[in-house]
Amino acid sequence: MTRPYNFSAGPATMPAEVLAQAASEMLDWSDASGKRCGMGVMEMSHRGKEFMSICAHAESTLRSLLVVPAHFKILFMQGGGLAENAIVPLNLSALRAPADERGQTDFVLTGSWSQKSWQEASKYSSTHVAASSQAGGFTDIPDAATWQIRPDASYVHICSNETIHGVEFHTLPDLKALGSDAALVVDFSSQVASRPVDWSRVGLAFGGAQKNLGPAGLTLVVVREDLLGHALAICPSAFNYQTVAANGSMYNTPPTFAIYMAGLVFDWLARQGGIAAIEAQNIAKAQALYQAIDSSGLYFNPVAAHCRSRMNVPFFLRNEALNDAFLSGAAAAGLLQLKGHKSVGGMRASLYNAMPLAGVQALVNYMQAFERSHA
Ligand SMILES: *Cc1c(COP(=O)(O)O)cnc(C)c1O
Repeated sequence: MTRPYNFSAGPATMPAEVLAQAASEMLDWSDASGKRCGMGVMEMSHRGKEFMSICAHAESTLRSLLVVPAHFKILFMQGGGLAENAIVPLNLSALRAPADERGQTDFVLTGSWSQKSWQEASKYSSTHVAASSQAGGFTDIPDAATWQIRPDASYVHICSNETIHGVEFHTLPDLKALGSDAALVVDFSSQVASRPVDWSRVGLAFGGAQKNLGPAGLTLVVVREDLLGHALAICPSAFNYQTVAANGSMYNTPPTFAIYMAGLVFDWLARQGGIAAIEAQNIAKAQALYQAIDSSGLYFNPVAAHCRSRMNVPFFLRNEALNDAFLSGAAAAGLLQLKGHKSVGGMRASLYNAMPLAGVQALVNYMQAFERSHA
């Protein structure tokens, strides 16, 4: 069955073979030896041996794909990226604060998502904007050497890929080298598993699954062990990282089916050759699309070249009156969900891991044909 190419920013396209495998196991899951168990995954107890094996396999495959060091915990939670905007300060804001003070949390604003994180954290901590690219319309990342990090900040939050503005950190900041003892918190919702992570620079990274890992409902948290155990007294127990870690992500019922699906995606990633191989694909896809945009007279992308996102490529038509025709023609050509986020307008093509190079080539061909016919 051929399917159209789906450029949605999230929930997003999944590898077809993962969907097919899940469909084949929907009524009766079988283990690695092929033994049937008579239940679908969403019908299993999360504490039964079948689901425990599914969860352990997903975690260990992810750990080896992303080369997560042993002193980091991998947590499977719920609530998505937006819930983490509260859960992170509830757990980490007091890392370096005296018991009677609101902890200090610092933010680098590079787009809508880091801005949301900053606003939410202000409910639970004393926030501060260490740097911002808002004045330039979120089209750049301020040089880390200029960041104003407070000496007592518990952590510095960045969004490593701004899904709406299409701005990506191609290297993570080295806070130690900047003279800061703060932990680095990274929202990698729309970047996770698209490239390797330099864990030596990270304290905690979180991401909703629905961009690059699987279905909505699962939130991945990877946290350095020494950051656990500092939660505020008001932190909900189900959102206390230490409690979640101590219970192997089963303090409460985890999103079992979403964990299973993410595990199938991790297996698929391993079959593609792992993260280095998928990163090479992602570079090739992004280059093809940016090159088509930059060489055209109709389309443009406003983001500084050094921080253009590989995962989410916003682009605009110089003649906005053609937007509707562009989108309806794209859908007719089997290119779905290209409309830009309502806050910025224009178009956006999301090129997550499951989008093949052929999909990007089909998009480029369509864009060029559309430009020729509307010249
Ligand atoms: C999608 C997204 C979120 C929000 O995730 P929800 O699961 O909707 O809460 C947060 N941060 C980034 C970078 C995202 O792309």
